[in-house]
Amino acid sequence: MNVLPSPVTELAYLAAAVCFILALKGLSSPRSARRGNLLGAAGAAVAVVTVLLSTDFEGANLAVVLGSVGVGSAVAVPAARRVKMTEMPQLVAIFNGVGGGAAAIVGIMELAEFAGHDVKLVVAGTTAFAVFVGATSLLGSLLTFGKLQGTITSRPIVLPGAGVLLVAALGAGLGAAVAVTLTADVWFGVVLALLGLAFGALLVLPVGGADVPIVISLLNAFTGLAVAASGWAMGSTLLLVAGTLVGASGTILTLAMATAMGRSVNGILFGALKGGSTAGSTQVSDRPVRRAQAEDVAITLAYASRVVVVPGYGLAVAQAQHVVAELVTALRARGVDAVYGIHPVAGRMPGHMNVLLAEANVPYEQLIEADDINAAMPSTDVVVVVGANDVVNPAARTDTSAPIYGMPIINADQAGQTIFLKRSMRPGFAGIENELLFADRTQVLFGDAKESLTNIVSALKDV
Ligand code: NDP
Repeated sequence: MNVLPSPVTELAYLAAAVCFILALKGLSSPRSARRGNLLGAAGAAVAVVTVLLSTDFEGANLAVVLGSVGVGSAVAVPAARRVKMTEMPQLVAIFNGVGGGAAAIVGIMELAEFAGHDVKLVVAGTTAFAVFVGATSLLGSLLTFGKLQGTITSRPIVLPGAGVLLVAALGAGLGAAVAVTLTADVWFGVVLALLGLAFGALLVLPVGGADVPIVISLLNAFTGLAVAASGWAMGSTLLLVAGTLVGASGTILTLAMATAMGRSVNGILFGALKGGSTAGSTQVSDRPVRRAQAEDVAITLAYASRVVVVPGYGLAVAQAQHVVAELVTALRARGVDAVYGIHPVAGRMPGHMNVLLAEANVPYEQLIEADDINAAMPSTDVVVVVGANDVVNPAARTDTSAPIYGMPIINADQAGQTIFLKRSMRPGFAGIENELLFADRTQVLFGDAKESLTNIVSALKDV
């Protein structure tokens, strides 16, 4: 179906690349993220149609390609539509793994095509890179999916001799990559892919708890680099550009997440191998706390001048974004200066709270970032912590042995009063106790966040 003249094809690829770049720009702010997403999807659609219209498919290959697109769409579209917001990181992990696997397969197919031809060292070397890194990303991403989904434990899994095995897999992978570079032999390519799978598993298994989503972002960068390499090997500028963009943005996101959580990428990947662990316990505290009732909370909030709502993972679990918005709107209508304090890693993915609150049409001006909200904390009367825990845990500032030590937090302990909405005394993601729950100026309203907020909103009407 080679019906497009070459200049049109090149122009279409350029248009797709521009869409990808504008998509990333759009995704940098919640206000323009939806438009960015649509632009990215449009760029991908232009790219796929251009490939179909500019390639001479031999034999039944076109049917195979169209069939694959059909099966991929039939699986991915319903999965993406049905996924719950709290399960988004898993979806990203699995899509990312598929991308890495595709890059590895393209690399192996290229090697099969090279048979009997003179192949430049740089082309064979780049193909080897795509195969190894793509395979690493495939199995690494599938394992992170399993860890987040609870199919396998989210705690670090450290096999006996894990460090040695990891270095051995990397060393053997480098050896096989050199063999592929020198011979362009497809069977060396298959061995290289198997070593990439082993390396991916050994890299990801020791990572646990809060670090798993960061590793997903790192593997996303790997997939981008593998795709860029296969684009280079195939002479496809579009794949090269798209892969480089994914590689660069994945790297930036990985570093930003690690910084927001006060962790180093080195510690995340190799901490457990050195004997440290990032996953805490799930022990429930039996220390007494001051319990609150919805009616008392409504009165406290109604007579406050400044209220900060700090949402966290529990807001997503309870799907309480609409009712929390209702509460803040009602307070603002009464003249209370009520805003949201947004921590960059509240929830389970970057921007989780922004996405949830955008669903409830909360104006962006009401979302205040951690640094700015902290500056206003001493003059804040009440902080309402809705399903958050780690992101307000003062242990991050004070307890050097805490797994979250060094993570910037929202300083809710510096406000006049703190009210926690949570269901039980279970700890947050890091698995450690939060002293703020037991402070004199803290009250806990137990229950599902949606239910508690609904009760507060209704009690507020009578104040
Ligand atoms: P946490 O996991 O620390 O705390 C969540 C709280 O929500 C718990 O106290 C839980 O208590 C409560 N909760 C759960 N369900 C409900 C419900 N239905 N109603 C009311 N409360 C509920 O969340 P945070 O947002 O404070 O912190 C995020 C953590 O995740 C940090 O440790 C961060 O490092 C980590 N992380 C974040 C990533 C990101 O990109 N955002 C990525 C990776 C990790 P209870 O069960 O008693 O109700």
